[in-house]
Amino acid sequence: SALDRRDQVDVKGGWKVGDPVPYAALAKTFALIEATTKRIEKTSLLTGLLLLVIQRSKKGDSHSLLQTLYLCINRLSPDYEGIELGIGESLLIKAIGESTGRSIAVVKSDLKKEGDLGLVAMKSKNMQKTLFKPKPLSVPFVFNNLKEIALTGGNASQTKKVSIITKLLAACQGEEAKYIVRSLEGKLRIGLAERTVLVALAHATVLAEHESSGKRWNSEKMTARLEEGSSIVKSVYSELPNYDKVIPALMDSGITNLHDLCKLTPGVPLKPMLAKPTKAIGEVLDRFEGKRFTCEYKYDGERAQVHKLPDGTIGVFSRNSEDMSKKYPDIVEQLPNAIKESTNSFVLDAEAVAIDRTTGKLMPFQELSKRKRKDVKVEDIQVRVCLFAFDLLYLNGEPLLRKNLVDRRELLREHFNIVDGEFQFARSSDNESTDDIQSFLDESVKDGCEGLMVKMLETEASYYEPSRRSVNWLKLKKDYLAGVGDSLDLVVVGGYYGKGKRTNVYGAFLLACYDADAEEFQTICKIGTGFSEEVLTSHYEVLKPLEIATCRGDVKAGGAKPDIWFEPQMVWEVLTADLSLSPVYTAAMGIVEERGISLRFPRFLRVRDDKSADDATGPEQVAEMYERQALAQGSGKKKKGGD
Ligand code: ATP
Repeated sequence: SALDRRDQVDVKGGWKVGDPVPYAALAKTFALIEATTKRIEKTSLLTGLLLLVIQRSKKGDSHSLLQTLYLCINRLSPDYEGIELGIGESLLIKAIGESTGRSIAVVKSDLKKEGDLGLVAMKSKNMQKTLFKPKPLSVPFVFNNLKEIALTGGNASQTKKVSIITKLLAACQGEEAKYIVRSLEGKLRIGLAERTVLVALAHATVLAEHESSGKRWNSEKMTARLEEGSSIVKSVYSELPNYDKVIPALMDSGITNLHDLCKLTPGVPLKPMLAKPTKAIGEVLDRFEGKRFTCEYKYDGERAQVHKLPDGTIGVFSRNSEDMSKKYPDIVEQLPNAIKESTNSFVLDAEAVAIDRTTGKLMPFQELSKRKRKDVKVEDIQVRVCLFAFDLLYLNGEPLLRKNLVDRRELLREHFNIVDGEFQFARSSDNESTDDIQSFLDESVKDGCEGLMVKMLETEASYYEPSRRSVNWLKLKKDYLAGVGDSLDLVVVGGYYGKGKRTNVYGAFLLACYDADAEEFQTICKIGTGFSEEVLTSHYEVLKPLEIATCRGDVKAGGAKPDIWFEPQMVWEVLTADLSLSPVYTAAMGIVEERGISLRFPRFLRVRDDKSADDATGPEQVAEMYERQALAQGSGKKKKGGD
C-alpha cells in the first residue's frame, strides 16, 4: 500500500532524480495524513513520500531526506541545539495581511471564525487573484527560510521575520500556506507522532533497498524485513536522537549496519527513562515479586543528564534534551572534582538538587526554581546545587544501556568520587521487606525528598529504556501514600476573569492534558481554588502575554468556555483527590468510555518550568489513574458529574 501511496503523493509531472523535493508533495502528503485517523494509513502515506525522496535523491545526497523529515516533525535541528519556531500570532497575522493584501482586522475576524491561522492563511491566499503563477516552493527553500526565521534575533528582528514570512506566503499554492503557517506556529497538527515517522522512515528505506536490489521478496519475507527495519530504526534513534547523524548513515550504509554506525554518543542527549506511579508498597512488592530490586531516594530537583566528551567538554541536558550548561555553570565547574582519572568520557543520569552548603540540608524544588535559567555566572549564584547521580549510561567509549542496573551502578561508584555538597550517589537500599521500604521511605521524606524510586536491579528488565515510562521503574511518592491523590502535569489553556478583589487578575483557569499521538490538548478541569493573591498575580504576569483571540485548533475544548484562551505553554503540577467521567471535558475521551474524564477538587501544587506543554500528562495516564481509582473503590461505582 505504501507503493500506491507513493503515486498518490507525487506531484503532477513528478520530479527528476537530483531535483529539489517540491514542497507541494509534502503539503499533499500532510493533507492526506490530516484527513485520516488511522495510524496505518498515516504510516503508508508518509512511507510513500519518503520512498519518493530516497529514490529521487542523487547518490551521496542525504540532505533531501533529512530536510523533508525535519519538516514532517516540524523541527529544524536536534532539540538540544535550541533552534525553535513558535512564532506569535500577531506577527503571523501581520504577515498574512501583508502578503494577501487583507487588513489585520479582517484576518483577525476570520481567525475568530476558523480558529486556525493556517486555514485562514490558505483561504486568504486562495481568494487572492494573481496574474502569474509563482515559482513552486521547494523543500530546501522552505527549510532554509524557516531556519533563518528561527535564527533571526536582535534589533528589527520582527520586521525581518515578517518580510521572510511574507515572501514564503507569496509563493504558496493550494494547501501550502496552511502548513507553512502551522509550521511557523510550531505545531503541524496533522496527528503525526514521531513514532510513526520513525516507522515510515524504516519502511521507506527497506522498500527502496528492495526495489533497487531487483529481487522479489514474498510477502512473508517483506513483512519480516519491514518489522526488523522498524525495530532497528526505533532503537537506534532512542540511543542517538539526532537525525543529522542517523539519516546520512542510513542513506550510505542501509538499515542492517545502522546499529554499528549509530550508538549513544556523548554530546547527544537521549530522552530519559521515566517511571510509573504506584500507590502503595504492596503494589511495588506485587510487581517485583521474586526479583531483585533497589529503592533510591527520589530527589526533589531537576533532572540533569551530564555528558563528558573525550576532549573534556562537559554538557548538562534537561529532561527535554535542552542544553542547560549555561544554567548550571557551577555543575560544569565542580564536576571534574568528582571524576576519577580512569574516567575519560561518560553520560550520567542524575538529579540536580538545591542544597544549603552550610548545613548540608536539601532544599525543595521551589528553591531551585529561583535560579536564573540562562547565562548564569558562577560568582552570582545564590542557590547552590548538589548533583545526585543515579545511573551511568556510557563510560569510556562504551554504551552501558544494555547492562544490568546492578552493574551500571557498580561502574558508577567505581569511576566517580563523592564530593560533599557537590556530587553524591543517590542513596539506595536493596532491602525488600515492606517494613524496610516503609522506613526508608520515611527517612527519604525526612531528608527532604519526594519519596522513593524503586528499580529492577537484574536481568533485561533492568536495562535502561530511553524515552520510556517503564514498569521497571516505579515511583512511590509521599503524596500518593498520604491518600491525597494523584499529581498530574497539566497545560493552562484558558482563563476566567476574577471576581471581587480579583478583578485585575485571572481568578480561575482551564487545564488540559496532552495527547502526543493526536497532537492535541484535551481539557480536563477548571481550577480556581487554593491560589494566594500573590500566586494569582504571578500567574497573571506570565499568562497575559500568552493570551490569544480564539481557541487554537489543537485544543479540544469540549463544553468548556473560558473568558480567554492562552497559547498552550505553561505547565502546572496539580493534585487531585478524585477523577470522574465528565459531560464537559474531553480528556481521554473514548479510552475508558465515550465521555471524557475530569478532575474533581484539583489543587495547584507548582509551576513545572522544566516541562514543556508536550511533556504534560497524556490521556492514557489519565485513563490509567481513573481505572485504578475505580478498581480501588470497587468497579462499577464510577462517578458521574464533575464540572
Ligand atoms: P515527577 O513529577 O514525579 O518528577 P516526571 O514526569 O518528571 O515526574 P517521573 O518519571 O514521573 O518523571 O519521575 C522521575 C523523575 O524523578 C526523574 O525525571 C528525575 O527528575 C526524578 N528523580 C529523582 N531522584 C531520582 C532517582 N533516584 N532516579 C530516577 N529519577 C529520579
